[in-house]
Amino acid sequence: MADEQDKFDAIVVGAGPAGCACAYALARAGKSVLLVERGVTAGSKNVSGGRLYTYALETLEPGMYKRAPLQRKVVREQIMMLSKNTATTIDYVDYGFGEEVPQSYTVLRAPLDEWFASEAETAGAMVASGILVDELLEKDGKIVGIKAGEDEMLADVVIAADGVNSLLAQKAGLFPDITARAVGVGVKEVIELPDEAINARFNVSGDEGAARVAIGCTEGISGGAFLYTNKGSISLGIVFNPAEAAKHGKQVHDIFQDFKMHPAILTLLEGGTTIEYGAHLVPELGLSGVPPKLHREGLVVVGDAAGFGINTGTIIRGMDLAIVSGLAAANAVIHAKTVAEIGPLYMQQLEELLLLPNMRAFAGWHNLLSIPRIFDQYPHIANESMKFMFTVDGKVPEKMTKGIWQVVRQNVRFSQLVSDSWKAYRSI
Ligand SMILES: Cc1cc2nc3c(=O)[nH]c(=O)nc-3n(C[C@H](O)[C@H](O)[C@H](O)COP(=O)(O)OP(=O)(O)OC[C@H]3O[C@@H](n4cnc5c(N)ncnc54)[C@H](O)[C@@H]3O)c2cc1C
Repeated sequence: MADEQDKFDAIVVGAGPAGCACAYALARAGKSVLLVERGVTAGSKNVSGGRLYTYALETLEPGMYKRAPLQRKVVREQIMMLSKNTATTIDYVDYGFGEEVPQSYTVLRAPLDEWFASEAETAGAMVASGILVDELLEKDGKIVGIKAGEDEMLADVVIAADGVNSLLAQKAGLFPDITARAVGVGVKEVIELPDEAINARFNVSGDEGAARVAIGCTEGISGGAFLYTNKGSISLGIVFNPAEAAKHGKQVHDIFQDFKMHPAILTLLEGGTTIEYGAHLVPELGLSGVPPKLHREGLVVVGDAAGFGINTGTIIRGMDLAIVSGLAAANAVIHAKTVAEIGPLYMQQLEELLLLPNMRAFAGWHNLLSIPRIFDQYPHIANESMKFMFTVDGKVPEKMTKGIWQVVRQNVRFSQLVSDSWKAYRSI
């Protein structure tokens, strides 16, 4: 067993946004903290679509975002509905999103995580990269440290910030192994492109950026795609349900390639070079995927490890919730008088910092995404309706309402339309 004299106030496992935020806040408060990361450097193992809502960094420390290696501030929000060779895009521009403290930024994870870990280090945390934590140390029913290879390290509390499918939370008996239903598989590429091309293709300029989500590109499987503009590159990815993909006999790679080859996407990528490729799991169930217990004496679970994620189809949130939960855990450690108090204080902080209220506000959205026709028939209806509206061929067209109704009826049964509308209404 390790020496009691070398005991840390806290050991944080995982240098993603949750772990870095936690280690930073603890070190800033003068706590002795060890941040352990299995990757060679923080961020080297991470894949993310890449849009961070700025409020999270502002909550951690006002003005901190100005130091971060952020890409473009998002002022254009776009929703794309794809069919075989057609696409309808809703393009919402709001320059207010880019003013004062911009609402969100596109980010690249490798530089972001590396920066975040260095902030924690500068604040006083000890950062140990290239170390895989294998086990939790337990004594008298309490978690008292970690084991990595032959090395054992002690702490008053261990913060499990080890991401989706948390090994540590499972080892602590807090929750079972993840099921295929509970996660999405995300694949992502970063494609290098000159800024002039990005600006022209996405109608942005200077440090402004666009965030685009797309549906109708997963061959009917529950999921969707995203496209974010960075400085000198585009992040492009697709997230979908692995269980459904397997049922359809589809390979991740093939679905992603088909999406990239869609003519409306291909023109955006033309001339680009892929400089990064990665795949990762993402929690998909929203609040219903958050386990009932997120702590044990001596252990607190944060970020993706705790199942904190919100996906409405138009908004994908994980990094902000990771940062806020990391801060919540740090605040709990800082204010607790005994180790036993940390867990309950953490839950209180998750309420006070509005993380759990946010999760509750979107609790039903996951059900919306379980309507299968959202991923196939409805995008098709949008495109066929557009085709009807914009077609001029000299023939006498149907009346507008009749023509569009025909499009709808060709794609869904009336009973499906009613039940989907009711389900959508109930979900949101
Ligand atoms: C394709 C895709 C697109 C996404 N898009 C967005 C988006 O646009 N916006 C958004 O907010 N969120 C997005 N997310 C979600 C977001 O990436 C996560 O919510 C976020 O990264 C969670 O942060 P975290 O710190 O909890 O976990 P992670 O970022 O996963 O970090 C966990 C860290 O722990 C380390 N680790 C794991 N196990 C061990 C161990 N045993 N020992 C030592 N180290 C360990 C890992 O190497 C990793 O660095 C996306 C996710 C995916 C997969």
